[in-house]
Amino acid sequence: PNISNPSFYNMVQYNFHKARVIVEEKLIESLKHIKGRAPMDLAARKQKVKNIMSYLETSDAMLELNFPIKRDDGSFEIIRGYRCMHKCHLLPCKGGIRYSPRINRDQMFALAAIMTYKCATVGLPYGGSNGGLCIDPKKYTINELEKITRRYTIELAKKGFIGPELDVPCPDMSTDEKEMAWIDDTYHKTFGYRDINAHGCVTGKPTSQRGIYGRVSATGRGLFNCLDEIIHSEDFMKMVRLSVGWKEKTFILQGFGNVGMHVMRYLTRAGATCLGIAEIDGSIVSPQGINFHDLEHYKLTKGTIVGFPGAQPYTGKNLVCEPCDILIAAASEKLITKEVANEIKAKVVAEGANGPITPSGDRILLSKNVIILPDVFANAGGVTVSYFEWLKNINHIAFGRLTFKYKRDSHYLLLRSVQESLERHFGQEGTKKIPIVPSEAFKERIAGASEKDIVQSGL
Ligand code: GLU
Repeated sequence: PNISNPSFYNMVQYNFHKARVIVEEKLIESLKHIKGRAPMDLAARKQKVKNIMSYLETSDAMLELNFPIKRDDGSFEIIRGYRCMHKCHLLPCKGGIRYSPRINRDQMFALAAIMTYKCATVGLPYGGSNGGLCIDPKKYTINELEKITRRYTIELAKKGFIGPELDVPCPDMSTDEKEMAWIDDTYHKTFGYRDINAHGCVTGKPTSQRGIYGRVSATGRGLFNCLDEIIHSEDFMKMVRLSVGWKEKTFILQGFGNVGMHVMRYLTRAGATCLGIAEIDGSIVSPQGINFHDLEHYKLTKGTIVGFPGAQPYTGKNLVCEPCDILIAAASEKLITKEVANEIKAKVVAEGANGPITPSGDRILLSKNVIILPDVFANAGGVTVSYFEWLKNINHIAFGRLTFKYKRDSHYLLLRSVQESLERHFGQEGTKKIPIVPSEAFKERIAGASEKDIVQSGL
């Protein structure tokens, strides 16, 4: 690897090796006494752990494909796409699909590996994967994008790189519900006749098409929950000399997409002030704070934040280096380099994107006593809600608004549905031990809920 300018995958490997040192020690220890097995000597344990680690580091499979499409004007174009399955130790694999002209193999390896570590961090039973198409979606009509997405789906299916039990994509940079709907429709129309779970082949679908309420905002919400914990922790706030709670907290956002837009909603709702937003086509600032609802409306109608009347254009060098309490890096990878990190004044930096801080940037921020919320935890809200969408699809149950309204009891609804399917397969005997009891509060709330309450609870 080029140390002064590491590739994205080099960065991930670097972090993996840093973590490996700690994990190996613990694993070697835990293998000492496995119930029902003869004790293993130290050398054998060390070798076993080494083998596990080498397996965890490498990617299981990488698909690179090229397919032709005919554009609306009759011209002919070859589209390049990828899908990388980092680990198949737990199937299906899970990870986003991004559309960007900057996509390459290295980036796919890196993102897929991050997904494996992310799912493990939050305890989701998935291996990691990632895919994408090397296109600038702004240069294609909606008709062309649909054609490309459907063809990509078929190509993935032919090679065994998509399926509810194999690999389940979801939105990432420049993709959203509509792409997921096309993927679902293509897959289901092709394989649905023989695969009853076909709709579980992709998550992040529209709610009208077997998606789940709250998925669109889930990554932002997860990021907010994570920040909320830190901001209310006396220990953490003492470390960076900030007051506890959201009052008078300021933040700067890098990226106003699938993650940035939603985290801004929750942060401003909690009482924090957004001082500025950096986007690829221009940045905006406002010392009084940017109004979220006006900006959301502007972005959804104009497709950009540039020219937003409620703020001024930013003319300085780098907005992320301006003074604020919290910086949210929700744009793309490798943006907080050594040079940028040196200039950062924020006390807390949250990784909304995957891999936005380079290892040297990371080291500088830590030496400046900045709290870093790492991607594998901070932005895991998206894949967590995707997991519920997938469960909903493969269990053929309809939990949605109700589950979110009664969030604390969603666990109960989920367990109940799992129990029912276990009973179907194994009879009552096998499930006796699972304590599934709704709380009293839940029973009361369900009984008292009107249809209006339920509809209004959609996120
Ligand atoms: N693109 C999302 C991420 O990077 C994937 C989440 C999902 O699988 O729903 O976390």
